[in-house]
Amino acid sequence: MTERMLDDSISATSFDPEAADGEISDRAQVVVVGGGVIGSSIAFHLTQIGITDVLLLERHRIASGTSWHAAGLVARVRGSHPLTELSNYGVDLYAGLADVTGVDVHFRPTGSLTLAENAARVRELAYTAAIARHHGIEARWLEPNEVPQVWPIASTEGLLGALLQPGDATVNPGHAALGLAKAAHDGGATIREGIRVEELALDGRTVAGVRTSRGDVEAETVVLACGLWTRDLAATVGVPAPLYAAEHVHVSTEPIDGVHDLLPLMRALDGYFYARHHAGGLMVGTFEPNGRPRPTGSLPDDWSFGEFGPDWEHFTPVRENAERRIPGLREATFTRFLRAPESFTPDANFCLGEAAEVRNLYVAAGFNSQGIIYAPGAGRALAEWIRGGAPRFDASEVDVRRFASSQANERYLKERTKEALGRLYAMHWPFLQPTTARGVRRSPLHERLAAAGGCFGEMVQWERANWFAPKGVEPTYDYSFDRQNWFPSSAAEHRAAREAVALFDLSSFAKVRVSGPDALALLQRVCSNDVDVASGRVVYTLLLNEGGGIENDGTVTRLDDERFLLITAAATQHRTLGWLRRYGEGMACTIADATSGLATLAVMGPRSRDVLSPLTATDLGNASFPFFTAREIQVANAPALAIRASFVGELGWELYVPSEFSIHVHDALFEAGADAGLRHAGYHALDSLRIEKGFVHVGHDVGPTDDPFSAGLERFVRTEKDHVGAEALRGREHSPPPRRLVGVKLHDPEPLLLHGESVIADGRIAGTVMSGAYAHTLGSAAGLAFVDATLLDDPELPVEVDVAGTLVEAELSTRPFYDPDGSRSRA
Ligand SMILES: Cc1cc2nc3c(=O)[nH]c(=O)nc-3n(C[C@H](O)[C@H](O)[C@H](O)COP(=O)(O)OP(=O)(O)OC[C@H]3O[C@@H](n4cnc5c(N)ncnc54)[C@H](O)[C@@H]3O)c2cc1C
Repeated sequence: MTERMLDDSISATSFDPEAADGEISDRAQVVVVGGGVIGSSIAFHLTQIGITDVLLLERHRIASGTSWHAAGLVARVRGSHPLTELSNYGVDLYAGLADVTGVDVHFRPTGSLTLAENAARVRELAYTAAIARHHGIEARWLEPNEVPQVWPIASTEGLLGALLQPGDATVNPGHAALGLAKAAHDGGATIREGIRVEELALDGRTVAGVRTSRGDVEAETVVLACGLWTRDLAATVGVPAPLYAAEHVHVSTEPIDGVHDLLPLMRALDGYFYARHHAGGLMVGTFEPNGRPRPTGSLPDDWSFGEFGPDWEHFTPVRENAERRIPGLREATFTRFLRAPESFTPDANFCLGEAAEVRNLYVAAGFNSQGIIYAPGAGRALAEWIRGGAPRFDASEVDVRRFASSQANERYLKERTKEALGRLYAMHWPFLQPTTARGVRRSPLHERLAAAGGCFGEMVQWERANWFAPKGVEPTYDYSFDRQNWFPSSAAEHRAAREAVALFDLSSFAKVRVSGPDALALLQRVCSNDVDVASGRVVYTLLLNEGGGIENDGTVTRLDDERFLLITAAATQHRTLGWLRRYGEGMACTIADATSGLATLAVMGPRSRDVLSPLTATDLGNASFPFFTAREIQVANAPALAIRASFVGELGWELYVPSEFSIHVHDALFEAGADAGLRHAGYHALDSLRIEKGFVHVGHDVGPTDDPFSAGLERFVRTEKDHVGAEALRGREHSPPPRRLVGVKLHDPEPLLLHGESVIADGRIAGTVMSGAYAHTLGSAAGLAFVDATLLDDPELPVEVDVAGTLVEAELSTRPFYDPDGSRSRA
């Protein structure tokens, strides 16, 4: 075999747009841009739900972008329940696609075998098996000596076992895209090749259509499913779609003895490779840890069925791993080296849904080498999203609005993409933090927190102290599936907030000033709670979608008649602003992002009043500064908006301090707080505190598919008011919801809860843990779980939680386990 070490000559088939299909109509209900597997699936699923006025525009040929050269592995189980729902549906759809369309997608029900070469991987796969169990998908653990029964030509050296998932399969990816396009066509959609969308047309903040190489098309809805080209097209109308291409590789061999087309696809995660049957030989592909980003500009404009030449040098470490596990590869002749681009995102999850900035403009791109797996599920989900205006599955992990707009920065994406590719096969540790492109957004207190031993995690580019290492301890993560190295430090921070006082730097909170004559009207429209309160009052509220689902939550502080401060979680900055601007269009008010200008120092704990009082002339007593009120005060030599509220369930104040004063205030607090035992506390402690107090985290515990009644948040909804979502909820106030969000607490003090664990009652799966943490005050792990409401009828019913295969006794509660009456916050 001739192996060129590196050949960057791009090969591609040229395409003559003049030879393309005929005329296009000048309007369509939905225009889908991009005829890869994703766009084709969206078009098909739209027709399935009755939207047939669909025009799919592909600038070259169907599948000519990335879809044609995928390896075609399709899997049922993913790392979370919502994504497993999508992928599981996908395998079933591919299995039957040929019967419906006549396009043979080469579906082979091979099953898969995921190898574990170390103890941590065995644990990780136990979590995978638990997700499979939850969805009724078969997954069976094999001991090393059983592996040769399904993979006779694999070496078992160093293996600790493997997870066999008989439901997985392989397809021909190009045919899969064609099959879906054919199904879309059969369903009534119009598919046009050789037509490039050159621009997006807007009418204010709403999409109005597309400008194409064959003229303009008006549309109510436009979907950007243009693969790695999506970011650039979205950016033309100010929509961030943070994805970046990386080179992706698989190689194929001539026939090998023992390989057949039902040989399970092998995932050797610890060796960063997979292997599947291919024409009697093997196709070996990689998710290497040192991915190679590829700027879109380096691809020719007419890229179609394109690929780069071979690069054996980069592939060599993976090839060696593969040869160790499959010794027959050493003698095999490689016939094909496929190196081509695929797009990756900063958190290795795809981008789906309506853009925050432009109404009716949807994104479906950035599939992190899982686009074949997800195409059917994501296509169906997006079609339903378009029809209903909101997702019908828990889209938190993939919602395009989860990113900060700054994450569309190309340099940042390029750096992160080196890591994002390998992340698919690297250990999926709990609390895993990225290592590339760090340090982009820092709180003004960052250096103080670092000096105090802060160990930082990343959230929408913010560096946030998750825990503080005591003197002499390195502030770095030592990952494991058991208690990690930060457990004792975080426990001490947790206890400080419960028993004394702790300072949390919450500067990453999203803060928006809404002011002007229509400020109240806008907030009354988007907030479920009544925010027409006296100046100085603080209101906790939900932000619902038109269907009554929970999009967001936060507090609104009324500063005076026409000025309000809305505070939401850091990760929602982008969507909060988009939401306000959307509903505030044409209203006489200013929506100003105050996130960067205000640092947030949260002084929390029973001794917080003792720490703050010497620094301010303001009376902090209960009578003059009650719970859920706010005042402009002086703290030491600085101004601050002090809000008496608490996400940890204790007496406390959040101080919103202009950034330039924040270090001064921080230092003054520590000087004044020495006797009271003030210490820094991080986000891990914040999470364990809020979970044992039963405070809901939107995005983790609840989302757009959940209504306030199921979430136990009905007291924050005023359906008599004309707010977004009110109409959908009216009349439902008195019907008991079929599922309820409740507290869950393990009886055994040892095991941990992460998220996604199944709740078992009466021998059946009756719920899911949405978020979990170690509840240090309660002395065991606790969480919030959605369960069948019928479980709550019988308090004596024994309940267990499936913690990666071990059933642990637990109890449920509709009231917070800690301080159910909330008296501590009001102290
Ligand atoms: C080597 C390799 C192996 C892979 N293996 C797997 C696997 O085993 N399993 C798996 O699930 N995934 C795999 N993938 C990933 C998978 O191929 C992609 O996630 C998927 O194909 C993405 O589909 P798409 O429709 O988003 O993008 P594309 O297929 O790139 O489609 C986008 C289309 O949009 C068109 N377009 C762009 N701009 C415009 C415009 N302005 N106007 C009109 N049309 C436009 C393009 O021409 C293109 O055809 C692999 C990828 C690679 C590179």
